[in-house]
Amino acid sequence: MSMNFRLPGPTPLPPQVLTALGREMIPHRGPAFRALYSETLDLARKMHRTDGDVLTWAATGSAGWEVAVVNLLSPGDPVLIAVNGNFGERFAGVAGRFGIDVRRIDIPWGQAVQPGQLRLALEEHPEVRAVFLVHNETSTGVTNPLRELAEVVRDHGALVVVDAVSAAGALPLEVDAWGIDFVFSGSQKAWMCPPGLLIVAAGPRAWAAQQRSTYQRFFWDMGEAKKWADQGMTPTTPPLSMIYAFRAALGMVADEGLEQVWERHRRLGVMTRAGIAAAGLRLFAPLGFESDTVTAFLPPPDVTAKQLLEMLRRDYGVEAQGGQAHLADLLIRVGHMGWVHEPEMRQAIDAIADACIRLSSAAAGEPEKLEPLQSRTVTA
Ligand code: PLP
Repeated sequence: MSMNFRLPGPTPLPPQVLTALGREMIPHRGPAFRALYSETLDLARKMHRTDGDVLTWAATGSAGWEVAVVNLLSPGDPVLIAVNGNFGERFAGVAGRFGIDVRRIDIPWGQAVQPGQLRLALEEHPEVRAVFLVHNETSTGVTNPLRELAEVVRDHGALVVVDAVSAAGALPLEVDAWGIDFVFSGSQKAWMCPPGLLIVAAGPRAWAAQQRSTYQRFFWDMGEAKKWADQGMTPTTPPLSMIYAFRAALGMVADEGLEQVWERHRRLGVMTRAGIAAAGLRLFAPLGFESDTVTAFLPPPDVTAKQLLEMLRRDYGVEAQGGQAHLADLLIRVGHMGWVHEPEMRQAIDAIADACIRLSSAAAGEPEKLEPLQSRTVTA
């Protein structure tokens, strides 16, 4: 049985990326690396739809929160953070640790942040210097309406700072056109690479804020990263294999076409939700704000998330994930971002439907009626 790796990250690696990862080392101050890194950053700019700067660090997505805080702000700065899931919560937690004066909009987990709520919160806290938003709440499968939210923040004048870890490279994201000042993502989601590369895009207002920031910083210093990036290098030894991999993945996105990649994710999102709903299962995200990179749903009554996840893994080779924090045992999350196509999603959906029938029958005390659908294979 082949495995169908459907976590909301890390995501499966395409052969082009696996090959790139196997490449030999090169001198990181030499011409070959400088050409490679410059080309990689140019492509990454295109994939973010920005003429601003793209920078990378050897780090996972979480470092993006810290890079944002220590470069764009100073201790005590008031910042508004919209929290509608576990990642917004963590964003707020990191800012709090750095002595930021955190003002929160708390929205029940599973709902989206609405522009009207943000407008009201900004009227209540007009002094905030930045607003932190999570584009796609991976913990609940909810996509926030980033374009509209960014517009509200721009009207107010605060910086627009975005965690797009499970969105960039899969969901429409127009950094310049939407007025986003700072956005970060991680290599292991839609970028189809292993975990280990943080990708940041920063525009002119972010650089102006960086000039004012009084935080001490070394590894996460954007100014230093830019100084070196402008010469095709990084301040420290770069994670060479990750740069090879990211370059290969960006090439794949360019070949397919960024808008076609967005469209593929949209189709996969629609198809996944339709399949889950047809199996009689309840989707967690509200209509219109469902994520096209991760679908969260509730297991049938009398069936626990743990039971379903175990059966999916054991009998169908489908590796999905539960919820997070207080939703840990209540939700199932299925990833469909990055290197993913219809056949894998069809197999995953069929497996979920089949497993739910078997588990529900067992919970009702009925003898098991169905054998697992062993014959279905993943062909992509
Ligand atoms: N932000 C979001 C929206 C995420 O989904 C994740 C990881 O799943 C992170 C931040 C943290 O990224 P990492 O686990 O790569 O540090």
